[in-house]
Amino acid sequence: MSQGTSPAIPGLHHVTAISGPPQGNLDFWVRILGQRLVKRTVNFDDPGTYHLYYGDQNAAPGSIMTFFPFVDAGPGRAGAGMASAVAYAIPDLDLRMGDLAEAAIDFEGPFERFGEPAIAMRDPDGLRVELIEGGARDGGFHSVTLWLEDVTSTAAVLEAMGYEREAEEATATGGTGGTETHIRYLSTDPERGSAVDLMTSDARSIGRSGAGTIHHVAFRARDREEQLEWRARLSAVGQQVTPVIDRQYFDAIYFRTPGGVLFEIATDTPGFAVDEDPAHLGEALKLPEKYEAHRNRIEQVLPQIRVPS
Ligand code: ZN
Repeated sequence: MSQGTSPAIPGLHHVTAISGPPQGNLDFWVRILGQRLVKRTVNFDDPGTYHLYYGDQNAAPGSIMTFFPFVDAGPGRAGAGMASAVAYAIPDLDLRMGDLAEAAIDFEGPFERFGEPAIAMRDPDGLRVELIEGGARDGGFHSVTLWLEDVTSTAAVLEAMGYEREAEEATATGGTGGTETHIRYLSTDPERGSAVDLMTSDARSIGRSGAGTIHHVAFRARDREEQLEWRARLSAVGQQVTPVIDRQYFDAIYFRTPGGVLFEIATDTPGFAVDEDPAHLGEALKLPEKYEAHRNRIEQVLPQIRVPS
């Protein structure tokens, strides 16, 4: 980072959510949304459960959506203090709406979000997915929405991460069923990356973690050095940040924002090609070293899945 400029996070890295059984999740995210399964591994804390990663063709940071598909997950519900929606940037909304209509797939909209045309869908577990024409880059995340009781404390954390308030609008298009206020934050990093929308709603919903809810939102650090700088900066403004945790495809640090949402900062390095050929990402079950000795048992316990073509 050059001296004299304020450092800023270059956008989202990934978003992690909880789902029900894996096959319905795969069918929706690959067949309907057109994402690529870029990693098939297990929950490192619970190797009898998959951890499935979806992304663009290059498995680029900023396009990665991950799921823990618990076979017996109870239904969750978005509410204040949780990330409540992810949005993808797409090049041509009319074309996409035509495809969805032809496949008889329901969606809400079109509507406008900060002047850009958008639609919204629910995945099989009820997770809200928005498709917005415009944004930083096609195929990656356009934005993530954080539903908050009050935006002040979360806004302060984002500002410490180099985000700036861009715009505000009152609307009823965030899926809460009430009148909402969306405040958009964008990174001041030259790469900008995905937006973060802070939302409040007059709809009352007690959030409950479970299938169809987002577990955490991960932001990018280009490398380990940048990540350690962020760890020091965030600790200095009072965040309780975990030590660096090795997640095989990136290094991670976590902190719970005062508004309730769990944030992570994940490194771009080493990336998803660290343990398999980039042309064949997601085709084989990949296990971290500590579980290789138990591969047979793990493969017996995991449900069979089939990646749609
Ligand atoms: Zn994560």
